[in-house]
Amino acid sequence: MRVAKETVVGIEYTLKDDQGNIIDASGDRGPMEYLHGAQNIIPGLEQGIEGLEVGDTKNVLVPPNLGYGEYSDKLLQRVPIEHFGANTPQVGMRFHAETNLGMRVLTIKQIEGTEVVLDGNHALAGKTLHFDIKVASVRAAELTELSHGHPHQSGGCCGGGGCGSGEASSEGGCCSTGESSEGGCCSSEEGASASCCSSEQPAAEAKSGGCGNGGCGCGN
Ligand SMILES: [Zn+2]
Repeated sequence: MRVAKETVVGIEYTLKDDQGNIIDASGDRGPMEYLHGAQNIIPGLEQGIEGLEVGDTKNVLVPPNLGYGEYSDKLLQRVPIEHFGANTPQVGMRFHAETNLGMRVLTIKQIEGTEVVLDGNHALAGKTLHFDIKVASVRAAELTELSHGHPHQSGGCCGGGGCGSGEASSEGGCCSTGESSEGGCCSSEEGASASCCSSEQPAAEAKSGGCGNGGCGCGN
Protein backbone atom coordinates (compact mmCIF):
# COMPACT_ATOMS: atom_id res chain seq x y z
CA MET A 1 0.00 0.00 0.00
CA ARG A 2 1.24 3.43 -0.86
CA VAL A 3 0.93 6.53 1.29
CA ALA A 4 -2.15 8.41 0.14
CA LYS A 5 -5.07 10.31 1.52
CA GLU A 6 -6.94 8.35 4.20
CA THR A 7 -4.04 6.14 5.13
CA VAL A 8 -2.45 6.03 8.57
CA VAL A 9 1.28 6.23 8.16
CA GLY A 10 4.04 5.46 10.60
CA ILE A 11 7.37 7.14 9.95
CA GLU A 12 10.73 7.13 11.61
CA TYR A 13 12.41 10.47 11.15
CA THR A 14 15.31 12.66 12.02
CA LEU A 15 14.90 16.40 11.65
CA LYS A 16 17.92 18.61 11.12
CA ASP A 17 18.43 22.30 10.50
CA ASP A 18 20.54 23.89 7.77
CA GLN A 19 23.66 23.37 9.83
CA GLY A 20 22.97 19.68 10.25
CA ASN A 21 22.08 19.97 13.92
CA ILE A 22 19.51 17.41 14.99
CA ILE A 23 16.38 19.23 16.12
CA ASP A 24 14.24 16.18 16.71
CA ALA A 25 14.11 12.48 15.95
CA SER A 26 11.61 9.71 16.45
CA GLY A 27 14.43 7.61 17.88
CA ASP A 28 13.42 5.56 20.88
CA ARG A 29 9.85 6.78 20.66
CA GLY A 30 9.43 4.59 17.65
CA PRO A 31 7.61 5.53 14.48
CA MET A 32 5.29 8.50 14.59
CA GLU A 33 1.84 7.73 13.25
CA TYR A 34 -0.30 10.30 11.53
CA LEU A 35 -3.35 10.40 9.29
CA HIS A 36 -2.26 11.35 5.80
CA GLY A 37 -4.18 14.19 4.21
CA ALA A 38 -5.60 15.47 7.48
CA GLN A 39 -3.07 18.19 8.21
CA ASN A 40 -1.62 16.24 11.11
CA ILE A 41 1.86 17.17 9.98
CA ILE A 42 3.36 20.11 8.15
CA PRO A 43 2.43 20.29 4.45
CA GLY A 44 5.96 19.99 3.11
CA LEU A 45 6.59 16.76 4.96
CA GLU A 46 3.23 15.32 4.00
CA GLN A 47 3.89 16.08 0.33
CA GLY A 48 7.29 14.45 0.57
CA ILE A 49 5.85 11.24 1.97
CA GLU A 50 2.97 10.95 -0.51
CA GLY A 51 3.23 7.84 -2.65
CA LEU A 52 5.94 6.09 -0.62
CA GLU A 53 5.70 2.49 0.55
CA VAL A 54 6.79 0.65 3.68
CA GLY A 55 10.56 0.51 3.85
CA ASP A 56 11.11 3.53 1.64
CA THR A 57 13.55 6.14 2.85
CA LYS A 58 13.76 9.70 1.68
CA ASN A 59 15.30 13.06 2.41
CA VAL A 60 12.60 15.68 2.48
CA LEU A 61 13.55 19.33 2.37
CA VAL A 62 10.84 21.60 3.75
CA PRO A 63 11.05 25.35 3.17
CA PRO A 64 9.48 27.64 5.79
CA ASN A 65 6.36 28.31 3.73
CA LEU A 66 5.60 24.58 3.74
CA GLY A 67 6.77 24.14 7.30
CA TYR A 68 6.14 26.43 10.23
CA GLY A 69 5.86 29.64 8.25
CA GLU A 70 8.11 32.62 7.85
CA TYR A 71 9.24 34.46 10.92
CA SER A 72 6.99 37.47 11.45
CA ASP A 73 7.75 40.51 13.54
CA LYS A 74 4.02 41.05 13.75
CA LEU A 75 3.85 38.19 16.19
CA LEU A 76 6.00 40.10 18.64
CA GLN A 77 4.24 42.02 21.35
CA ARG A 78 5.22 43.92 24.47
CA VAL A 79 3.42 43.56 27.74
CA PRO A 80 4.10 45.17 31.10
CA ILE A 81 6.04 42.92 33.41
CA GLU A 82 3.27 43.29 36.02
CA HIS A 83 1.14 40.99 33.87
CA PHE A 84 3.17 38.10 35.14
CA GLY A 85 2.19 38.76 38.71
CA ALA A 86 4.04 36.53 41.09
CA ASN A 87 5.67 34.57 38.28
CA THR A 88 9.07 35.95 37.45
CA PRO A 89 9.37 36.05 33.66
CA GLN A 90 12.55 34.64 32.19
CA VAL A 91 13.84 34.71 28.63
CA GLY A 92 12.99 31.47 26.88
CA MET A 93 9.97 30.72 29.03
CA ARG A 94 7.01 29.42 27.00
CA PHE A 95 3.34 29.41 27.79
CA HIS A 96 -0.06 29.23 26.17
CA ALA A 97 -2.09 32.39 25.83
CA GLU A 98 -5.21 33.49 24.07
CA THR A 99 -4.30 35.99 21.36
CA ASN A 100 -6.17 37.57 18.49
CA LEU A 101 -4.95 34.64 16.42
CA GLY A 102 -6.40 32.14 18.86
CA MET A 103 -4.51 30.04 21.35
CA ARG A 104 -0.80 30.38 20.74
CA VAL A 105 2.39 29.34 22.38
CA LEU A 106 4.28 32.46 23.30
CA THR A 107 7.95 32.57 24.12
CA ILE A 108 9.55 35.30 26.18
CA LYS A 109 12.08 36.74 23.79
CA GLN A 110 13.43 39.63 25.79
CA ILE A 111 12.92 41.50 28.99
CA GLU A 112 13.54 45.23 28.74
CA GLY A 113 13.10 47.08 31.96
CA THR A 114 9.45 46.91 32.87
CA GLU A 115 8.43 45.37 29.55
CA VAL A 116 8.42 41.79 28.40
CA VAL A 117 8.72 41.02 24.68
CA LEU A 118 6.60 38.02 23.72
CA ASP A 119 7.18 36.07 20.53
CA GLY A 120 4.24 34.21 19.00
CA ASN A 121 6.28 32.65 16.21
CA HIS A 122 6.76 28.92 16.24
CA ALA A 123 10.24 27.96 17.36
CA LEU A 124 10.90 26.64 13.86
CA ALA A 125 9.36 29.56 11.97
CA GLY A 126 11.61 30.79 9.19
CA LYS A 127 13.68 27.62 9.21
CA THR A 128 14.32 25.22 6.39
CA LEU A 129 13.80 21.72 7.70
CA HIS A 130 15.73 18.66 6.61
CA PHE A 131 13.90 15.42 7.33
CA ASP A 132 15.40 11.97 6.89
CA ILE A 133 12.42 9.67 6.93
CA LYS A 134 11.67 5.99 6.68
CA VAL A 135 8.18 4.67 6.19
CA ALA A 136 7.53 2.07 8.90
CA SER A 137 3.87 1.35 8.22
CA VAL A 138 0.97 2.25 5.97
CA ARG A 139 -2.60 1.12 6.53
CA ALA A 140 -6.08 2.25 5.59
CA ALA A 141 -7.57 4.58 8.18
CA GLU A 142 -10.57 3.50 10.26
CA LEU A 143 -13.79 5.46 9.85
CA THR A 144 -13.51 6.91 13.34
CA GLU A 145 -10.01 8.04 12.59
CA LEU A 146 -11.20 9.79 9.46
CA SER A 147 -14.00 11.49 11.32
CA HIS A 148 -11.66 12.54 14.13
CA GLY A 149 -8.89 13.52 11.80
CA HIS A 150 -6.12 11.56 13.53
CA PRO A 151 -4.97 8.00 14.17
CA HIS A 152 -6.13 6.03 17.18
CA GLN A 153 -3.84 3.06 17.41
CA SER A 154 -1.07 2.70 19.91
CA GLY A 155 -2.92 4.65 22.54
CA GLY A 156 -1.67 8.12 21.99
CA CYS A 157 -3.50 10.78 20.16
CA CYS A 158 -1.00 10.60 17.39
CA GLY A 159 -0.27 6.98 18.03
CA GLY A 160 3.09 5.63 18.94
CA GLY A 161 3.40 7.89 21.90
CA GLY A 162 5.21 10.48 19.88
CA CYS A 163 3.13 13.33 21.14
CA GLY A 164 3.19 14.83 24.51
CA SER A 165 6.26 12.90 25.41
CA GLY A 166 8.59 15.84 25.39
CA GLU A 167 9.17 19.21 24.00
CA ALA A 168 11.39 17.90 21.26
CA SER A 169 8.60 15.88 19.76
CA SER A 170 6.57 18.99 19.27
CA GLU A 171 9.14 20.43 16.98
CA GLY A 172 9.08 17.47 14.73
CA GLY A 173 6.65 15.91 12.40
CA CYS A 174 4.04 14.60 14.73
CA CYS A 175 2.99 17.63 16.59
CA SER A 176 3.29 19.85 13.66
CA THR A 177 1.00 21.74 11.33
CA GLY A 178 0.34 25.37 11.99
CA GLU A 179 -2.82 26.25 13.81
CA SER A 180 -3.90 24.26 16.78
CA SER A 181 -7.47 24.19 15.62
CA GLU A 182 -6.51 22.50 12.42
CA GLY A 183 -3.86 20.23 13.72
CA GLY A 184 -6.10 17.34 14.56
CA CYS A 185 -4.06 15.86 17.28
CA CYS A 186 -0.99 17.49 18.50
CA SER A 187 -0.60 20.48 16.34
CA SER A 188 2.47 22.54 16.82
CA GLU A 189 1.03 25.19 19.03
CA GLU A 190 -0.39 22.75 21.51
CA GLY A 191 2.33 20.24 21.21
CA ALA A 192 5.02 22.77 21.75
CA SER A 193 4.38 22.61 25.41
CA ALA A 194 4.18 18.87 25.25
CA SER A 195 0.79 19.01 26.82
CA CYS A 196 -1.54 18.17 24.00
CA CYS A 197 -2.17 14.62 25.00
CA SER A 198 -1.32 14.99 28.62
CA SER A 199 -3.63 15.39 31.55
CA GLU A 200 -2.18 18.76 32.37
CA GLN A 201 -3.96 20.21 29.40
CA PRO A 202 -6.97 22.29 30.40
CA ALA A 203 -10.08 20.92 28.79
CA ALA A 204 -10.87 23.99 26.76
CA GLU A 205 -7.41 24.11 25.37
CA ALA A 206 -7.31 20.43 24.67
CA LYS A 207 -10.40 20.76 22.60
CA SER A 208 -8.81 23.28 20.35
CA GLY A 209 -6.00 20.86 19.74
CA GLY A 210 -8.28 18.01 18.95
CA CYS A 211 -7.23 16.09 22.04
CA GLY A 212 -9.81 16.05 24.73
CA ASN A 213 -11.23 13.66 27.17
CA GLY A 214 -12.24 10.72 25.04
CA GLY A 215 -10.70 7.30 25.27
CA CYS A 216 -8.52 7.99 22.31
CA GLY A 217 -7.67 11.31 23.80
CA CYS A 218 -9.90 13.23 21.53
CA GLY A 219 -12.98 15.18 22.47
CA ASN A 220 -14.72 15.06 19.16
ZN1 LIG B 1 -9.91 10.49 18.08
